[in-house]
Amino acid sequence: MTPSRLVGTADGLTLEWPDGQRGTVTWKTLRDRCPCAVCRVARAETTPLPDLPVLSLAEARPLRATAMNPVGNYAYQVDFNDGHRSGIFPFDLLRQLSVPSVG
Ligand SMILES: [Zn+2]
Repeated sequence: MTPSRLVGTADGLTLEWPDGQRGTVTWKTLRDRCPCAVCRVARAETTPLPDLPVLSLAEARPLRATAMNPVGNYAYQVDFNDGHRSGIFPFDLLRQLSVPSVG
């Protein structure tokens, strides 16, 4: 399903779908769930122990997207302000990650 409307905000993305569903997904969620090969490997290698809460410089400032570019008819490529830009988010993933809003 193709989103009928996409609005970027400071915190994330608001999506509207042709079936009337409306949802939001934060930039952090998108970044955490980035489907590119580099991030998939990084997630797979994460140990089950929690990381120490030490923030890198990139993590210390609020994460947001600097650009979103349509990819074909099925996805958006997102440029994050931490410099990461290889993530391509298919529409169905965006829908899956977004939290439906009421009202
Ligand atoms: Zn990635």
